[in-house]
Amino acid sequence: MSEGPIPAYVDVRKAFGQMLSLSGSVSLELLPRFRECLASDQARVGVSLSFSIDPITGQRQISGVIDAQVEMTCQRCLQPVEVGLSDPIRLALLVSEDQEAGLEPEWDPWICIEPKLELAELVEEQLILALPIVILHDDEACINKLEYKVVPETVADEKEPSAANPFAVLSGLKAKKAKTESS
Ligand SMILES: [Zn+2]
Repeated sequence: MSEGPIPAYVDVRKAFGQMLSLSGSVSLELLPRFRECLASDQARVGVSLSFSIDPITGQRQISGVIDAQVEMTCQRCLQPVEVGLSDPIRLALLVSEDQEAGLEPEWDPWICIEPKLELAELVEEQLILALPIVILHDDEACINKLEYKVVPETVADEKEPSAANPFAVLSGLKAKKAKTESS
């Protein structure tokens, strides 16, 4: 993306009054909590935001999309994996939590009592919400790597695994011990 960075903040009254639309990148340095979730600083974070006022309800709405490409740690092989994040933004700007009750379900509340709206903070929250719960490579190399580590060839070749079942042996020992103790 060749677009420059979005501004650090917007003036709330102006942004909604002028129905501002903006798009651009956000530097990881402005997203410290999100950055902590990543495996590296190899990241591209883009966002587009449109400010509007609902003509009927007068509700101030911010809609848009986040679009990011980041590196996270694969939960299987612990190597970096590229993750694409793309999520819509549907926020209603509120001045207090009391207003959340009347909010329609398609809008998420965003509370801002200041005349300035910090954009990085807003984008960071949306990025964190968009993070996948399970992070895994989807290629064979990742799966094979794990099997190589956990299952040595000798065990894989075992014809009768039940004979060497360590849990069976252990429970046998426990039963013996219990008998000895009770007598
Ligand atoms: Zn992996």
